[in-house]
Amino acid sequence: MSEDCIFCKIIEGEIPSTKVYETENTYAFEDVDPKAPVHVLIVPKPHIPTVNDISGEHASLLGEMMSAAGEVAKLKGVSEGGYRLVVNTNRDAGQVVFHLHMHLMGGRALGPMG
Ligand code: 5GP
Ligand code: ZN
Repeated sequence: MSEDCIFCKIIEGEIPSTKVYETENTYAFEDVDPKAPVHVLIVPKPHIPTVNDISGEHASLLGEMMSAAGEVAKLKGVSEGGYRLVVNTNRDAGQVVFHLHMHLMGGRALGPMG
């Protein structure tokens, strides 16, 4: 838990969120400002700021996040139609919250990456 991290506070229940799915080490919730009809954030419960802070010890946690993403896609009904997983890192990607998170977006044609 990082004191001034908004996603740590969401995980702890100090800030309300709309839960979609949860596992032992991950939490998935609706993005407050959705950019697609389906827009869910999947986060690890431990505070990891960015992809740059990942090391070998996080391997199973990252697997758990990917597995959770597949479950969220099923729960939200986009498994077959398709969806996009995005992890923004630092300034050029527009990362705003420095607690690792995976965006799961779908529910419409998303267009090419840019
Ligand atoms: P980033 O640009 O860091 O990859 O994305 C951060 C995401 O977190 C944004 O899509 C933003 O809408 C979402 N977000 C920021 N604050 C909150 C919040 O308090 N609750 C929820 N549910 N989502 C948030
Ligand atoms: Zn955090």
